[in-house]
Amino acid sequence: MPAPGGDPIALLAAAADALARLDPSDLPDAAVADLAVATRRGIDRLEGCFARLARNAHVRGIGSESGASSTAAWLARQAGMRSGDARAAIEAGELTDLLTHTGAAWRAGAISTGAARAIIGARVEGHDDKLAACEPELLELARTRDLNRLRRAAARFRKYAESDGAAPRVPDGLHLSTSWAGRTVLSGDFADLAAETVVTAIHAYTEAPDRTDPRPGSQRRADALVRICEVALEHIPAGRRNRGQVSVVVDWATLTGGSPGRADGQYTGPIHLDDVHRLLCDTTVSRIVTDPAGIPIDVGRAKRTPPARLRRAVVARDQGCRFPGCGRPPGWCDAHHVRHWTRGGPTDSRNLVLVCGYHHRLLHRPGWTVAFDGEELHIRGPDGGEVT
Ligand SMILES: [Zn+2]
Ligand SMILES: [Zn+2]
Repeated sequence: MPAPGGDPIALLAAAADALARLDPSDLPDAAVADLAVATRRGIDRLEGCFARLARNAHVRGIGSESGASSTAAWLARQAGMRSGDARAAIEAGELTDLLTHTGAAWRAGAISTGAARAIIGARVEGHDDKLAACEPELLELARTRDLNRLRRAAARFRKYAESDGAAPRVPDGLHLSTSWAGRTVLSGDFADLAAETVVTAIHAYTEAPDRTDPRPGSQRRADALVRICEVALEHIPAGRRNRGQVSVVVDWATLTGGSPGRADGQYTGPIHLDDVHRLLCDTTVSRIVTDPAGIPIDVGRAKRTPPARLRRAVVARDQGCRFPGCGRPPGWCDAHHVRHWTRGGPTDSRNLVLVCGYHHRLLHRPGWTVAFDGEELHIRGPDGGEVT
């Protein structure tokens, strides 16, 4: 039955058209500010409506009728959503079935999507009755738009609900998703001891700042996690080893700089060519290099990757990162081919130099050059000056 005043989707389209026609550059500051906030509030209301519709579609099994594996998968495909966002909307719809005042306030624009999500986040399995009893208090905070106080109240509710011991422990979770920009986003949720273990390992592998390395803390921790994974992959039990090998597929012309083409990781898709060169420089990666027609010409670990004996010799000689001023110990280091093997560089100690993960990445960036005769090392940056 059409809503009073006409079909809501047609009305919505008309409103969106009117907004799209408005060019903010023609408007004074105050009007842009008002419009931005009002538009965001409109989107929040629509998200409340969408959550209810998504939940309803889920209850009716609409996705499975068209063969999708789940309602979230169906929505993701039909509406072009990320499946995590679709799942979150369905869950939000489910909870607003329980917390009806919160759902109504969300759809009416009295509370924001952020506030609705904070209330939804207070849920502890098996304690929906208690949550419903606390709804007025949480909703009151949500109406004030003080999200920090609301989040603290939601956290207090969770602790209170869990404290009677009846609540099942919330299982730890780790989500891997792909962002719109094609990057991989990792988000984890760990309790107590698991969190302590993960954080201890990340601290243990985080390289200390030094004068040649300007990375911010977040980047150091990200690099530490990658290092932990590299070490773990090197120590994977023998029977599972072929599953624990980072592998890339790259075509020869792309690798040698002739043309843009395929350079893909097994799980994550396209990889930046500088990173591919660095990955192929040392031993921890298996590779498949293909000819222009995509036929593999070089599969697996090549002889060009340093055998353990050669690596030991390089470690004994260099004793740590050779980048001037660094000196991080060998455990942090890769053996870098001064002349890359794709350009005929041999895998012998006069062409290999030990550098830490950070400086290895740096040396594979455009503009950096390395000259090495087996003893003396000269590194020049993109400005042509020698690093000393
Ligand atoms: Zn290298
Ligand atoms: Zn270094």
